[in-house]
Amino acid sequence: MLMTVGLGMPGVAEILILLLGLAFWVMLIVGLILIVLGFVLTEGKQGDGACGSCGYCVIGLTRMICPECGNDLREVGIVSDTRKRWDLVRKGVLVILLPIGLWVVMGVIMLVNSMIMN
Ligand SMILES: [Zn+2]
Repeated sequence: MLMTVGLGMPGVAEILILLLGLAFWVMLIVGLILIVLGFVLTEGKQGDGACGSCGYCVIGLTRMICPECGNDLREVGIVSDTRKRWDLVRKGVLVILLPIGLWVVMGVIMLVNSMIMN
């Protein structure tokens, strides 16, 4: 990726692309780590009961009505507490999408730049 974009560029631009490439990979790795953490950290928490509608913890409740949103738990269901997991996974995906989006923008700029130069 670096090689194809960096061809025939002057020094400063080459360093800039190199730094962007580095940031790209760092963010990609961080995003992947977040996604993995999202799954690893929430493992073994399947016993946690949460409202299927709002995610409120319903462990120890005597009634089948969620105190947070008022929904009938028999209708919305009781799910394991996966909110933290999906929060982390969502952040991880965003962190990955950000550099990819940045890279696409950079690619367009490079393309336009080379078209103007030629
Ligand atoms: Zn609820």
